[in-house]
Amino acid sequence: MNRITHSHVLKSISKSIKNNHKCMCKYAKYAEQKSLERIRNIGISAHIDSGKTTLTERILYYTGRIETMHEVKGKDNVGATMDSMELERQRGITIQSAATYTLWKDHNINIIDTPGHVDFTVEVERALRVLDGAILVLCAVGGVQSQSLTVNRQMKRYNVPCLAFINKLDRLGANPYRVLSQMRSKMNHHAAFVQLPIGVESNCKGIIDLVGEKSIYFDGQFGEQVRYDEVPKDMRVESDERRHELIEHLSNCDDAFGELYLEEKPFTQDDIKAAIRRSCLKRTFTPVFVGTALKNKGVQPLLDGVVDFLPNPGEVENYALKEKEGEESQKILLDSSRNGNKPFVSLAFKLEAGRFGQLTYMRCYQGKLQKGDNIYNVRTQKKVRVARLIRLHSNNMEDVNEVYAGDIFALFGVDCASGDTFVTDLKLNLALESIYVPEPVVSMSINPTNSKDRDNFSKAIARFTKEDPTFHYYYDDDSRETIVSGMGELHLEIYAQRMEREYNCPVTLGKPKVAFRETLIFPCEFDYFHKKQSGGQGQYAKVIGVLEPLPPHKNTLLEFVDETVGTNIPKQYVPGVKRGFLSMAEKGLLAGQKLSGLKFRLIDGAHHMVDSSEYSFFLAAQGAIRDTFDKGNWQILEPIMSVEITAPEEFQGAVIAQINKRHGIVTSTEGTEGWFILHAEVPLNDMFGYAGELRSSTQGKGEFTMEYCRYSPCLPEVQESIIAEYQNSMGLSPEKDKKKKKN
Ligand code: GDP
Repeated sequence: MNRITHSHVLKSISKSIKNNHKCMCKYAKYAEQKSLERIRNIGISAHIDSGKTTLTERILYYTGRIETMHEVKGKDNVGATMDSMELERQRGITIQSAATYTLWKDHNINIIDTPGHVDFTVEVERALRVLDGAILVLCAVGGVQSQSLTVNRQMKRYNVPCLAFINKLDRLGANPYRVLSQMRSKMNHHAAFVQLPIGVESNCKGIIDLVGEKSIYFDGQFGEQVRYDEVPKDMRVESDERRHELIEHLSNCDDAFGELYLEEKPFTQDDIKAAIRRSCLKRTFTPVFVGTALKNKGVQPLLDGVVDFLPNPGEVENYALKEKEGEESQKILLDSSRNGNKPFVSLAFKLEAGRFGQLTYMRCYQGKLQKGDNIYNVRTQKKVRVARLIRLHSNNMEDVNEVYAGDIFALFGVDCASGDTFVTDLKLNLALESIYVPEPVVSMSINPTNSKDRDNFSKAIARFTKEDPTFHYYYDDDSRETIVSGMGELHLEIYAQRMEREYNCPVTLGKPKVAFRETLIFPCEFDYFHKKQSGGQGQYAKVIGVLEPLPPHKNTLLEFVDETVGTNIPKQYVPGVKRGFLSMAEKGLLAGQKLSGLKFRLIDGAHHMVDSSEYSFFLAAQGAIRDTFDKGNWQILEPIMSVEITAPEEFQGAVIAQINKRHGIVTSTEGTEGWFILHAEVPLNDMFGYAGELRSSTQGKGEFTMEYCRYSPCLPEVQESIIAEYQNSMGLSPEKDKKKKKN
């Protein structure tokens, strides 16, 4: 596959401006002076192939950030000569987020690259948290596709206001009206056109601006000359109708405008624009733009839309948590003003080990940071001196002297993980909300194919685990294997391939294994006395309490509460109890899986003046859990995936049968124009090898995506076979167990 992705464009473009130093200085100057109202931090999200890369490239071209325009998949064949991650090119997906900035009508627009593939949700979510608004790109032919829905859900979770851009008007079968109705029915957006196409498919001439009641044409070789004209005669009726529809939608979504409308007072274009802006920021309305990036139509008005309707950093409320030991953390509203009076708070949202060394992308949420300042990592409490402050245009960077709230910037050589908070004053105890990090659901054994590559292997593992909190690595004592775990088979395979390509270290992966969990069905009391008082330093500790199952929505968590009163267990020993509990939670009795969905309530106990220690309580807690293994009623939980399958209608029956066979539950099906989309919830354990099966049963036309949804109890027979398999592997299994498994 020889195609370019969004990241490629961001990266490759850096080359074309490398020598343009003057232009860089101009940008640097602007960047420092920018007031908050003139900043937009946006993302461009889309289903693969909707045209995100093409659109980004056009944006950078029209904003003067690059001087030439490449065709994606173009004749100039840039794809083959670019030095960026070859893997992305092969897979055709963007798997790294970067940030770049540009200027449009004196507004500084930071574009944060949001990776599209569902296996990389953490990167998407991290990026979404950092940006203030987004452009949702939809294909005028494909419409609302599976990933558009995923991205839509994520935007909702992080409350990101968005504009929709229906791209590819020029393609055969383009139907923006259908896409609009899908946005309403499938995504539940209160959406309406703010533009109309003047002709579609090969007839696509320009667009109509419904607010300004004019038509817009894009002249010149690259559509760089925007020409305004009257609305064509034959489109006036339609344009009036659609404008009326827009106004009605706005009057429903925005109270102030609704009043004007109901009282039949006159309103201006500015009133309409203000209503779009207000309701878009509140996410009660989505303005819909149209165009074709490839044919250079509609991009400049979309940029106007970004400036007009998406929020500046000051219009978004961002909170930090004020942590105090022993107390619940308090939510504190951060001050995004750019006077720099408040203490500096920023979030590291992306680490990248590139050719310039380790680069940490950050967003400043409060205060200002100057070159030469010292900042602290809240998690590790380590101090970092800021020797260089950098603003980014993809791989190309420019030095700045200071950054303020709302800015995206980068630092060199900072030791941290993505998601860490940096401040100038540790005493404030402020940390930005931690990002929702899903638990890994699949693991595989991993080994360098050639043992001489061990060094490179360790380097690669160290870097990837640091950059991606959903990618884990550990050594399993029982199986004596090194294991990686992550969010899906593809996720792990991509890292394996990156090791080979970037670190010259081919690796061998084992069979994928699902990360099951073990939990209690009913609460189980414990009363454990650990005593060893013969010779030497004695050990004496007693713990009494209950181990309880947590409600289903918390079934991936572990909680520990100290409910003791008085001094039967002196406070200094309580951490020992907690550690004991957590150490036992690493491996359950049923199948050696992690424990989860449990709450350890420490209620009472006993100690000895001389012989008790934190360690004795650690051992006592371990004993207590071992007791609950014997006494309690345990069950196995398995990850359930939300699966979406698209294929031609004639294969629907076969696909449903496959899903049923794999213990899936079909939650909905819908059909459009000869294709169906089926949503189902299927245990991950039953999904291995599905890609091949789907392909062969749909003549290669079917596609599916899946995403982690939740953990649920396994079916009894599945649980039995998991237990039998585990016992077998541990050499514990009596003969009859093996037979049972075979049956
Ligand atoms: P991405 O995967 O969302 O980044 O999409 P790309 O920008 O790589 O585009 C995917 C394919 O769609 C490429 O072959 C583009 O040339 C093509 N494409 C992008 N925009 C348009 C458009 O407006 N019209 C048409 N006909 N094709 C487009």
